[in-house]
Amino acid sequence: MKFLATIGLEVHVQLLTRTKMFCACKTDYGAGENTQVCPVCLGYPGALPVINEEAVRLTVLTGLMLGSKINRFSKFDRKNYFYPDMPKNYQISQYDCPFCVGGAVEITCGEKVKKVSLTRIHLEEDVGKNMHIGELSSVDFNRAGHPLMEVVTEPDMASPEEAFAFLLALKQILNYGLVSRCNLEEGNVRCDINCSIRPEGRERLGVKTEIKNLNTFKGVFQALNYEIARQTEVLNSGGMITQETRRWDSERGVTESMRSKEEAHDYRYFPDPDLLPVLLSREQIQLWEKDIPELPRQRCARLARQYAIPEYDAKVLSADKDLADFFEKAAGLSVNPKAVSNFVMTEMLRLLAEKEMEIKDAQITPQSLAELVKLADEGKINSNSAKQIFAALFEKGGAPGRLMEAMGLVQVSDAGEIEDFVRKAMESNPKSVSDYRAGKEAALKYLVGQVMRLSRGKANPQMARELLKQKLG
Ligand SMILES: [Zn+2]
Repeated sequence: MKFLATIGLEVHVQLLTRTKMFCACKTDYGAGENTQVCPVCLGYPGALPVINEEAVRLTVLTGLMLGSKINRFSKFDRKNYFYPDMPKNYQISQYDCPFCVGGAVEITCGEKVKKVSLTRIHLEEDVGKNMHIGELSSVDFNRAGHPLMEVVTEPDMASPEEAFAFLLALKQILNYGLVSRCNLEEGNVRCDINCSIRPEGRERLGVKTEIKNLNTFKGVFQALNYEIARQTEVLNSGGMITQETRRWDSERGVTESMRSKEEAHDYRYFPDPDLLPVLLSREQIQLWEKDIPELPRQRCARLARQYAIPEYDAKVLSADKDLADFFEKAAGLSVNPKAVSNFVMTEMLRLLAEKEMEIKDAQITPQSLAELVKLADEGKINSNSAKQIFAALFEKGGAPGRLMEAMGLVQVSDAGEIEDFVRKAMESNPKSVSDYRAGKEAALKYLVGQVMRLSRGKANPQMARELLKQKLG
């Protein structure tokens, strides 16, 4: 029997605020254990929470970017449960009055474009982090109280690929709005999955399971693949799916049962008596509306139009805000935006991936890339040398013109000099010469390569080719 999958996601995003949700503790990543804590985020009796306005702004901004309705009245509730990483035994969250309702994220999956609808976006506080070392267990509360925005989707996705595309699209938008750093290594984005399957042709959704606490997009993809296959096998062998919470074991590549699913009433939600409801004025929301940035899709269309670069380039560049910013600065200084785009898309992305760096840590400036493109356009360097200079700029920075001299990469465009290399190449490769004369075109390419080698990469390759053809012809 063929089954269709139905997937919904709850994405928890650590907001990019300097301080925590309800106190003045710092949110810096990597600080010593339990050094960023105070009576409020440790839940001492009598400590009073104060709402972080910046966290509210970032949540509302997210709703505005995603087309949600903004609730002008919202409130915080206590979600009561016991867990060692939560010292108060309740988490401050939002129950029936979240900041944002509805909205959607447009995703592209293969050729298909579709909208994934959102149920709500609310704000809560993060919990601490349990650590287990050998037989010892401890808790680091630095993360407790960090503002955590939860984006809840409708069950609108039908495959692991769509879920993956959704997470990428959401991450891009949140980056553009400077809402979150969305750094997966630092645990900025974590995700719960709801997944069910039903026989093709049936409307009613099947029994769903929840997979908790995925912290990589790849993990979400793999866990869904596993879970859909598992549910299919259970149903095909006449079994039933039980509604339960499961966890993803990335090492073994399986999901396994944790506990039966809690219902909302298990949490005994009630309004937090220490916090007044949040009332947002129309003026306040309008003011925040001004912060809505150009979003990745809009930017992609504009980049293609404004710089006359292919749609594909525009898409790669706009996927990362920092990359697109860098490209635009360099392209604005150059008369050849396509060449700038080529460098950014090939050399820049390759080096960043190789060295696992972010663009802000690279030493190359938009100015120096524009100059490098100019040197290549003027024929002062060939493309190989340009790549070498790019790598040097990336690593250490500097002026491309001076690097070109210092690295001895000035292109040889002097016909006399190149003729010498051509003669030598022909003399030492008589077989290629006769092959070419016998009609083997490929031999020419080999001889051009030999000229480049003899000139230590500095010969102008077009001139080498022309001269070779003359002499061979
Ligand atoms: Zn604190």
